[in-house]
Amino acid sequence: MNAQQIVLNARPEGMPSKSDFSMIDAELPAIKAGEFLVKNLWMSVDPYMRGRMIDRESYIAPFALGEVLEGGAIGEIIESNHADFPVGAKVNSMNGWRSHYITDGRDHTLLPQTPLCESHFLGVLGMPGMTAWTGLNRIAELKQGETLFVSAASGAVGSVVCQLGLLMGAKVIASVGSDEKAEALSAMGVEQVINYKTTANLSAALSAAAPQGVDVYFENVGGEHLAAALDNMNDHGRIAVCGMISQYNDTAPTQGPSNLAYIIMKKLKIEGFIVSEHWQHYGEFSQQMGQWLASGQVKAEQTIYEGLEQAPAAFIGLFEGKNRGKMVVKLA
Ligand code: NDP
Repeated sequence: MNAQQIVLNARPEGMPSKSDFSMIDAELPAIKAGEFLVKNLWMSVDPYMRGRMIDRESYIAPFALGEVLEGGAIGEIIESNHADFPVGAKVNSMNGWRSHYITDGRDHTLLPQTPLCESHFLGVLGMPGMTAWTGLNRIAELKQGETLFVSAASGAVGSVVCQLGLLMGAKVIASVGSDEKAEALSAMGVEQVINYKTTANLSAALSAAAPQGVDVYFENVGGEHLAAALDNMNDHGRIAVCGMISQYNDTAPTQGPSNLAYIIMKKLKIEGFIVSEHWQHYGEFSQQMGQWLASGQVKAEQTIYEGLEQAPAAFIGLFEGKNRGKMVVKLA
């Protein structure tokens, strides 16, 4: 049978463009003993994939030019010669960016039975949700009554950070790139939301939103957001450095904030983290998150693009603020 696959044509310079990607047809052979055939239903696009498009050493290997891309996906088994992976079961894998594939099941997990849409295993119940939970609980150690500032607060990670922050009894201040995103977060109970695109002075806006200062900053953006947070951090504040999306398309080395000395003066603790290093805690996270979702205490939002051919547009859309909640592509 034929599978459609998306390959990387060229390493993007600056903002990625659709011409950096191609969709190709690939003939799949018959499945052998111990293998099964998966039809992908959903795939994830994530900001970290931009880093994998650069040929450099990092915590994860770069994508190879001309090769099919990789990323989180949920698929259904449509043919099987594998006792543990029966036809009809749904699986979670890193084999996104393709319509079908054959595997021996290595690095695949069966999805549990759930009333939720299975795409949430790419979002609130998957890597982004786990990132939010890890950053707040294990890195920043947010406490009740503290003030939490969250950037990219409407996205896959940020929207969960805001909701968990509220559940943990924090006062939550958020930054987003549109009034529509700001309204949605306010409706959720976020105390103050700054639209960084229409704010002339982010540091002053944060100071007005959090006159009591910021105890924890959940960093998703970098640059001006980090500088504004440093200006407003309280003594002994913590910064969980999760991402710096404002810099992922930079073509020249970025200047750091000029107020780094606040790290000393305010005795700040700043810690970067990669969620995969905390995966041994996924069971604890998923149990709690499952309960919060079932009780309605956490709401899972997603933005859906339809069709594998839309995957590059969905990916590029992450850098244009096109998503609220998790950006996913529906394949079938
Ligand atoms: P999102 O769903 O938040 O999508 C990206 C959002 O970032 C956009 O919707 C946009 O929202 C905002 N954004 C894009 N460009 C800029 C910019 N130049 N300045 C400010 N905001 C911008 O993505 P994720 O939730 O998946 O990821 C959020 C961050 O967390 C990223 O930095 C990512 O790399 C990081 N991450 C880190 C992990 C780890 O293990 N450390 C794991 C997962 C994610 P808006 O309209 O508000 O601008």
